[in-house]
Amino acid sequence: MIHVDQDYLKKVIRSIPDWPEKGIIFRDITPVFSDPRALRATMDTFSHRYFDQKIDVIAGIDARGFLIGVTVAYHLNLPFVPIRKKGKLPYKTISEDYDLEYGSATIEIHSDAVQKGNRVIVFDDLIATGGTMLAGAKLVERLGGEVVEMAAIIDLPDLGGSRKIRDAGYDVHALIAYEGH
Ligand code: AMP
Repeated sequence: MIHVDQDYLKKVIRSIPDWPEKGIIFRDITPVFSDPRALRATMDTFSHRYFDQKIDVIAGIDARGFLIGVTVAYHLNLPFVPIRKKGKLPYKTISEDYDLEYGSATIEIHSDAVQKGNRVIVFDDLIATGGTMLAGAKLVERLGGEVVEMAAIIDLPDLGGSRKIRDAGYDVHALIAYEGH
């Protein structure tokens, strides 16, 4: 099994204290994309995980989930669909409201993005309270899809999101975890 070097990935990810608000440590994954070794290891790890599973669609959540999701979809020769913040998708959409670690939001998916019975992986960069992933899963399910797993680079277990996702009956997978916020 291919697995990214977690210590290396943690060295590459940048932590920004008190951004965008006091008390939040923002885990900035942009350096992962500018470090070819980290980028390849991260994307290969995800792609390898789903390589021999029956997956029909990869979904990615706005905006960093797009970068991960579309790369994995390309590797696996699968369709990619975006789950976007409200008002960005031009065709017919369905939407879900949810609470964030900081504030609240609405996400949308094109109503033809997932077909009934499709097996879907939902990607985002990070799981905090889990609200974003659960809202994304709800969108997929409202279109008749089945969420096989929710996947992220980072889990913040102390915020309870990954536990909440598991308690709701879903599988969840993250490459690394950080204690605290
Ligand atoms: P949540 O819905 O609380 O699980 O929040 C996850 C979403 O918010 C993801 O799309 C993340 O990109 C973003 N997010 C929340 N907290 C952080 C954080 N500490 N650092 C970076 N992104 C975060």
